[in-house]
Amino acid sequence: MFCEGVKIEDVMTAVEEKRPFYLYSKSQLTRNYAAYARALQGMEYMVGYAVKANNNLKILEHLRAMGSSAVLVSGNELKLAMKAGFDPSRCVFNGNGKLLDELILAAKHNVLINVDSEFDLEQICEAGRIAGKQIKVLLRINPDVDPQVHPYIATGNKNSKFGIRNERLGWFLEQVKSHSDEVKLVGVHCHLGSTISKVSIFRDAAVLMVGYVDHIRSEGFEIQYLNIGGGLGIDYHHEGANYPTPTDLVNTVHDLLAGRDLTFIIEPGRSLVANAAVLVNRVTGVKSNGNKNFIVIDGSMSELIRPSLYGAYQHIELVSPPAAGAKRATFDVVGPVCESSDFLGKDRELPTPEKGAGIVVHDAGAYCMAMASTYNLRMRPPEYWVEEDGKTVTKIRHAENLDDHLRYFDGL
Ligand SMILES: *Cc1c(COP(=O)(O)O)cnc(C)c1O
Repeated sequence: MFCEGVKIEDVMTAVEEKRPFYLYSKSQLTRNYAAYARALQGMEYMVGYAVKANNNLKILEHLRAMGSSAVLVSGNELKLAMKAGFDPSRCVFNGNGKLLDELILAAKHNVLINVDSEFDLEQICEAGRIAGKQIKVLLRINPDVDPQVHPYIATGNKNSKFGIRNERLGWFLEQVKSHSDEVKLVGVHCHLGSTISKVSIFRDAAVLMVGYVDHIRSEGFEIQYLNIGGGLGIDYHHEGANYPTPTDLVNTVHDLLAGRDLTFIIEPGRSLVANAAVLVNRVTGVKSNGNKNFIVIDGSMSELIRPSLYGAYQHIELVSPPAAGAKRATFDVVGPVCESSDFLGKDRELPTPEKGAGIVVHDAGAYCMAMASTYNLRMRPPEYWVEEDGKTVTKIRHAENLDDHLRYFDGL
């Protein structure tokens, strides 16, 4: 198996420490961003990369250099985005529980802020007063569209904790009007959920959202932005299914934007970074219990929790052809963490690997390293990428070590 021009087995040999690591393709990140830029060509638009999907500084810098904005869910993400060189006035701050300090920071830097609730608006106004700024806000409207995804990542249906109820729209418009020193309404936002595999769902939401834009404009507001959120899925199953592309997404809403003089904001996270990485692991051993076969690897739910957390499927493959005569069998691929939920894949048909063989979890660029923990004192893994020359491997994040953990107790 290769990452661009580099044999993954060679990277495993070259890295200094024998432990799991993430390996990215910088070229794939470029291709993913370019696909959005191409789809949006000719429109007024902002691609806001959702930093929570992967907060590696080098990846942020690369996306920023290609023209991306950033979509943020915490004050620390804002600080990191600024460190990566993003223009904060082209960033969007989201969240259902933003804190006053985070809002003040965002206000000072002219970040666009999404209003999520009554109390959120009240607090945004307070932040505006304290920072001495008129904050540009978008209303996060809950369009009540079912994204047909795992309930943990569905965010735009009626009973979700995110966004305002559309029956309350009139109240929000009045409040914004009466707090014009602190806030200026510039747009509407929705975010339906993640891993969405049908672009018709985005169209259903966009139909409702342009309706809101027209209505809000008729109430005398100047609306500049329509923000459709993120959520486009990727082909985790590697079944060659015809997965929608950014162009498919944009094409399905294009006619709704025509003639409305709107800047279109889209907030992809997963679809920009997920397929640009693998988690590279080594086989520790193979065992059987009852009627189950297990491949035990050195990676675990601490490095990559999506399968344990959502039952998510990520494709798993050996990096090199198996030994001649290796028997194919059905395995659970599991880590060494003391939890039965510690699995990377269930019921996978694979050739029986040898001890030490390389085995990758695919599509590990989004919500994998960003969700990694140090559970069982498995310190967070290093990250590398293959440069755009297709052959140079560069470390883009150091491994964490026990010393990093011990530092928290210094001087106590
Ligand atoms: C998480 C999130 C995104 C990105 O979602 P993806 O599924 O990774 O594209 C975009 N917008 C908001 C508000 C989010 O919370």
